[in-house]
Amino acid sequence: MAVRTADSTATEALLDRAVGGGARQTTGLQARPGLRVAIVACMDARLMVEDLLGLQAGEAHVIRNAGGLVTDDVIRSLAISQRRLGTREIVVVRHTNCGMLGFDDAGFLAEVAADGRRPDWEPGGFHDLEQGVRVAVRDLGANPFLAHTDRIRGFVYDVATGALDEVRAGR
Ligand SMILES: [Zn+2]
Repeated sequence: MAVRTADSTATEALLDRAVGGGARQTTGLQARPGLRVAIVACMDARLMVEDLLGLQAGEAHVIRNAGGLVTDDVIRSLAISQRRLGTREIVVVRHTNCGMLGFDDAGFLAEVAADGRRPDWEPGGFHDLEQGVRVAVRDLGANPFLAHTDRIRGFVYDVATGALDEVRAGR
């Protein structure tokens, strides 16, 4: 075990927590998610997906990124989740007060491309939280690489109240 120094990092603190009993008993669990569901969610630190949905180890795939966007890599993970690991449903979870809501894509790209190299991805800021969820659900439903697109639902988590509200299709 590594020796902790005075200038301990957050990573070291997390390692202490893991050693101190944070590790869960996963012996005997299968890799295939027991609930056959994959969740696409924003990476926001306030959105505790596992706690919010009462998830236990072995039950679901949780795929996260800034904004909970449907990126190529999310599609990659979902395609593998469905075609190799048996998931059948997709749940999209975004949240109020998201950093990607009203995000300055152009300004951010200018910042990261300061040395002249432009990334091959877009930041993906959006301006309408609920509409963004609808578009994500619609895009997933139309994606040709996914094997199961009949059970996809989208939700908004309210970071102020803890409520989880479904975003209905429409508009
Ligand atoms: Zn967010």
